[in-house]
Amino acid sequence: MSKPRVAIFDFACCEGCQLQIVDLEEELLDLVGAVDVVEWREAISDQSREYDIAIIEGSITRPEDEKRVEIIRSRAKILIALGACATIGGVNKLKNNFELDEVKKYVYGKDATMAHLDTAMTKAVNEVVEVDYMIHGCPIDRKEFTYIIRCLLMGKKPEIPEWPVCVECKARGNPCLWEYGQVCLGPIIRAGCGARCPSSGFRCFGCRGYIDDPNVNAAKDVIEKFGLSVEELKEKMILFGTGYKPTDE
Ligand code: SF4
Ligand code: SF4
Ligand code: SF4
Repeated sequence: MSKPRVAIFDFACCEGCQLQIVDLEEELLDLVGAVDVVEWREAISDQSREYDIAIIEGSITRPEDEKRVEIIRSRAKILIALGACATIGGVNKLKNNFELDEVKKYVYGKDATMAHLDTAMTKAVNEVVEVDYMIHGCPIDRKEFTYIIRCLLMGKKPEIPEWPVCVECKARGNPCLWEYGQVCLGPIIRAGCGARCPSSGFRCFGCRGYIDDPNVNAAKDVIEKFGLSVEELKEKMILFGTGYKPTDE
């Protein structure tokens, strides 16, 4: 039986999630042995138009990116969004809160009008094409990446947590950071990172995106105890969402 052909593509991002894959070391060799990697700019020079699984890192920020990701979608049987830039637009979505011309001027200065620097509103991959699976986080969790890929290779549906980070945080016995004045987004953000940030004393700032229905699944006890609503919490999604307004403190 032929091995599934895998291609990895990058769009607007820091490529940190691909680095997590490279850092898998021995486990990467196992995975690479189970698939046929036909394109991966960061690791090999081959290119291909034929693949079964396409893994997309990065957000869609230019008109030509939309066309490129549509072509990739049309060629792939399974399409996976890799990391927060691809799954929710990531930090690149910050720019959607400002006038695009202002953003271009701020970043590129006198070169802002050059055609190849043209930019559009940032989109997550699933705002442009259908996505079959998402590997969340900024950066992704290496163990979750290998778990999801192994499931797909075995024809199984991977189970992605649909409960909030608070569940993992409480399971680790952490004191709640809200008690210390930090507005932690754990009640509305998807678990799976092992409550990485609150376990180190930093609030969750939302890199894994919202749980499927924050209104139903949120850790209501935390929210109610501190008198905020789910909607108010969503407005605090500064780094990875569009809740930020330039007038916010
Ligand atoms: S999700 Fe984070 S680590 Fe991954 S590519 Fe985007 S910015 Fe980099
Ligand atoms: S709000 Fe943050 S610190 Fe508090 S329990 Fe939830 S994840 Fe932990
Ligand atoms: S705690 Fe929140 S911000 Fe930190 S890794 Fe987990 S989901 Fe991302």
